[in-house]
Amino acid sequence: MSARPLSGKDLAAAIRADTAERAAELTAAGRPPKLAVVTATADESSAWYVRSIVNAASRAGIACEVVDLGPEASAATIQRSLESLSADDHVSGIILQTPLPGGAKLEDLASAIIPAKDVDGANPLSLGRLAAGLPAFAPATAEAVVRILEHHGVELAGRHAVVVGRSTVVGKPAAHLLLDRNATVTVCHSRTADLAAVASAGDIVVAAVGRAGLITAEHVKPGAVVVDVGTNPTEDGGLVGDVDSAAAERAGALTPVPGGVGPVTTALLLQHTVRAARR
Ligand code: NAP
Repeated sequence: MSARPLSGKDLAAAIRADTAERAAELTAAGRPPKLAVVTATADESSAWYVRSIVNAASRAGIACEVVDLGPEASAATIQRSLESLSADDHVSGIILQTPLPGGAKLEDLASAIIPAKDVDGANPLSLGRLAAGLPAFAPATAEAVVRILEHHGVELAGRHAVVVGRSTVVGKPAAHLLLDRNATVTVCHSRTADLAAVASAGDIVVAAVGRAGLITAEHVKPGAVVVDVGTNPTEDGGLVGDVDSAAAERAGALTPVPGGVGPVTTALLLQHTVRAARR
């Protein structure tokens, strides 16, 4: 990759250090922050992600309870669990882990997480507030996209940002956050006609699809800044993004996978948890 690497590691470390300090203050004041992670899946990559959150929380001095309801859990059981955690004064933040059991929809169930504890911005009310420019927790991955760009001094105002992917957890909130920072935003998806023509018009491209190699050189304007959100497991147990090596050659700057968006996402989840506890 000849593009300038936009690592997320330093930014994540800075967020973690600040979060740990604030968590210690809250604990000393008798209000220890606590994160609850609700999971209902046997998915291995989800389990890996949950372990990384638990470890990061423990290093930051934040208690983390994993509520594992098992892959057979019904939507009603998951909803009851979220309602009970929402009402629990000892819980500051709640995350509902995906994938969910068949038939259960994140957007439906996440409505049971009260917005004050919705540290991963999963409740549709949080996304609505974000879209309206009101204070809300943004989904951590979407926020990580803009925080990495800002950390590396990438100008956003007036630039054309193309977001590839329109999920409620990444693409749509990332588009709102970029719009908030005065970028001109185009959102693409699986039905976009001539994705290469649209994406290659972008000064900034955010790849949030989940398909290795989808973004090729023809999707990238020479010198463009590319944020690779995709995490695609490889056969040898590694992880690759959505951006292929020829696109990486053509870009001016690119977030690595791993080591880009991922560590910042986890750090922001904990930062949001401490913010929720302070309120
Ligand atoms: P998702 O819900 O599956 O959404 C994927 C989006 O990509 C959809 O909007 C889909 O369009 C679009 N898409 C699919 N094929 C396409 C194509 N050929 N051309 C253009 N767009 C296409 O996925 P997600 O939850 O947003 O996650 C996206 C990626 O980010 C995944 O790799 C995920 O693992 C990764 N991720 C990383 C982190 C992190 O911390 N690094 C966190 C969360 C997610 P339609 O809407 O038309 O179907």
